[in-house]
Amino acid sequence: DFSIEGEHIIIAKTLTPADTLLFSASDVMGYVTEFGGITSHAAILARSYKLPAVVGVHSITTKVNTGDCVILDGQTGTLILNPTKEREAEYREKMKRIRELEHSLEGLADLPCITPDGRKVELAANAEFVDEIEYVLTQGSRGIGLYRTEHLFISKGDWPSENEQYIAYSDIANMMYPQSVIFRTFDIGGDKFLASDRVEMNPFLGWRGIRIMLDKTDRFKDQLRALLRASARKNVKIMFPMISGVMELREAKQLYREVQEELSEKGVEFDANLQLGIMIEVPSAVIVAEDLAKEIDFFSIGTNDLIQYLLAVDRNNDLISDLYQEFHPAILKAVKHIIDIGHKNEKWVGMCGEMAGNPLATVLLLGMGLDEFSMVPAVIPEVKKIVRSTKYEDAQKVAEEALQLNTTTEIKNYLTKFAREHYPELFIAMQNGAALT
Ligand code: PEP
Ligand code: MG
Repeated sequence: DFSIEGEHIIIAKTLTPADTLLFSASDVMGYVTEFGGITSHAAILARSYKLPAVVGVHSITTKVNTGDCVILDGQTGTLILNPTKEREAEYREKMKRIRELEHSLEGLADLPCITPDGRKVELAANAEFVDEIEYVLTQGSRGIGLYRTEHLFISKGDWPSENEQYIAYSDIANMMYPQSVIFRTFDIGGDKFLASDRVEMNPFLGWRGIRIMLDKTDRFKDQLRALLRASARKNVKIMFPMISGVMELREAKQLYREVQEELSEKGVEFDANLQLGIMIEVPSAVIVAEDLAKEIDFFSIGTNDLIQYLLAVDRNNDLISDLYQEFHPAILKAVKHIIDIGHKNEKWVGMCGEMAGNPLATVLLLGMGLDEFSMVPAVIPEVKKIVRSTKYEDAQKVAEEALQLNTTTEIKNYLTKFAREHYPELFIAMQNGAALT
């Protein structure tokens, strides 16, 4: 219960997504926490709002006093206490270069995302609040590739009604029209707003996402009804989170069909050809991807969870954050497999985990054949610049080469070398690759 005025950097033990939102609306310049992972929901929000954040700095609250001067570098994950004049000058120079880079990318917004040899991919934005949409529209993406609906819970503190949801979803769809919006059905649980008062030992392996919705079918149908009603202008797509196999998908689709029938009977308008997809974020879904592909319109790879589940590394636990590696060979192979299976079944494949917005991964994912990249809006211009300056043919070679390497370090070094040689001017932006491992 305190207010923050003026330009400060916040140093705290932990922070919640709600704190991040509060900071983004104030003059807070960034934050540092003792605990937490870089793909925690709070950290993702920080990236969305371009709020520099460094997480997992143990005991930092005992080392810094209120009023101390610090430099916070969210790109490299560095915090410097009481910097020298030279250090300060060095960072002011770095900030100047970043601003120049951002300025040089401004003209890209209206240009298509296409390689010099003609491979076109879609760049989309991840969003979750109405007030982000205006910013999204300036960044030169094509639509929203992941709209997280969970925030309706925070504002309500309870299940939102069908009508409240309809108003929220149709607002977003109308603001984005004619571009499309992929709404993800509620992925509550995990680190996103407890769905019950029960304390779970392993919330990420617990009652979460589609599992909750398939238990609370009335709530699920409320959401599906609201989404279908918001689809009348045909720019809405829907995806289900946390699908682990065909049974869950069929159950979800059955409820979806029931809602479609109810609406048809009542003569309510909706998009009868709406695309329905699933997130690929549970390892079993990778293994049974072939069967899943036959029953959906698209896949969207959720690397934030896929990495935590495939590598058995809690995405929020800083004790093991060095093991949370998006360039782990197993991750590359899983991503490539999903793309291949999708294409074999004539389905498009996107990615909406943070990896899609890591400029160090762009050439790799492009070369693997990814069709859609969905990311925090702030990085869209950088990623577009890379796609527009890389031949698809070269990207394919990079992907092929990277898939042969068998350690994270070799893969990262290889991609870093390619980036340094081909986009030295963008390299400063790529250093967040360090923070994202
Ligand atoms: C993911 O898991 O990659 C994802 C995009 O979903 P979330 O971060 O909301 O779990
Ligand atoms: Mg997820």
